[in-house]
Amino acid sequence: MHLSIKIFIALVLSVIFGLVTGPDAVPFIKWWIAPIGTMFINLIKMMIVPVVFSSLIVGMTSIGDTNKLGRIGIKTVAIYLVTTAIAILIGFAVAGLLHPGVGMSLPTDAAVKVKEAPSIMQVFVAMIPANPIASMAKADILPTIVFALFVGVGIIQVGGKRAQQLISFFDACAEVCYKIINMIMQISPIGVFCLLLPVVAENGPSVLLPLLSVIACMAIGSVIHAVGVYSTLARVWGGHSPMKFFSGMSEAMMIAFTTCSSAGTLPVNMKNVQEKLGVSREVTSFVLPLGATINMDGTSVYMGVCSLFIANVFGIDLSFGQMAMIVLTGTLASIGTAGVPGAGLIMLAMVLQSVGLPLEGLALVAGIDRVLDMFRTCLNITGDAAVACVINETEKKYNQAA
Ligand code: ASP
Repeated sequence: MHLSIKIFIALVLSVIFGLVTGPDAVPFIKWWIAPIGTMFINLIKMMIVPVVFSSLIVGMTSIGDTNKLGRIGIKTVAIYLVTTAIAILIGFAVAGLLHPGVGMSLPTDAAVKVKEAPSIMQVFVAMIPANPIASMAKADILPTIVFALFVGVGIIQVGGKRAQQLISFFDACAEVCYKIINMIMQISPIGVFCLLLPVVAENGPSVLLPLLSVIACMAIGSVIHAVGVYSTLARVWGGHSPMKFFSGMSEAMMIAFTTCSSAGTLPVNMKNVQEKLGVSREVTSFVLPLGATINMDGTSVYMGVCSLFIANVFGIDLSFGQMAMIVLTGTLASIGTAGVPGAGLIMLAMVLQSVGLPLEGLALVAGIDRVLDMFRTCLNITGDAAVACVINETEKKYNQAA
């Protein structure tokens, strides 16, 4: 049986078991099942830094030309920013039609602590690793990318036999990483089951039903963005039919859905995009790690939906200017958000603050954030892959024309 079908079955089973067992079984599930899920996610996370570092160096040195690298970089970031802004607008449109939160009142104990979001300058400063080993130890992807870029450029400049030895070394490292990821993926159905069961058992219908309209907006917005934007990118510029694109992405999408971490899904996404969608290692190794941290379309749909939802709950009418401000801050905020569970809530706080919407509204969203995070993360990583396909195809055409 195909691995993605096995993962899908595990996903469905975990939902059924979670709903049947209910809250009474939560202590048992937390004690015995959840740790197995954590072991699985740790196995994947174990591969993030090795695979990003080694394959980025191999990718860069095989591009071998810093102009080309610059061109790919600018194109990638431009598409990332445009799709992010479109995602926020889709969030607005869906929430504007379905009016989540109208007539709802705030619970009296509404208060939620959210870590302070970093400023945009802090994000840029944090990209430069003062100590690359420390950044790698913390699995901070952006500084790791920056360090790998420098090592890659250094190797290109040294050139010759000595450079070749290093390239062969990193090439072998990358190969070994992909083999290990393959092994880990063999147990992914068990991992997915053990990760999702505790979430479903804990967030039963009583938690989700009152805010069903927000969840529905998020789900509908995600589907519209995936079908509208990614199908178009894949078909028109990415060289794949939407069917081929989404079936190629299915494993990574399900892992993202259950882990709620773009960074955690990165090794699986890199493997899928190369093996199932035929994207070159150069492009994959550069576009996907960058996307896992700076491209968050799902989180952007969420910001559109939730800011309108919170405005509705407080009976505030958002002006056109405020909406434009949300698109701008949301798009910029997405650059600095780590691809980890719950990061979107911090971004939402930043966006609400930028237009003066009450932060108390976060308390409502926080209760169902884990469920919203599943949709966001799934869309986040799919967006990265769609852009990787586009860059791969357009670069191929550029090279043929040159
Ligand atoms: N969990 C998301 C991700 O890893 C970020 C977010 O919370 O929106 O992509």
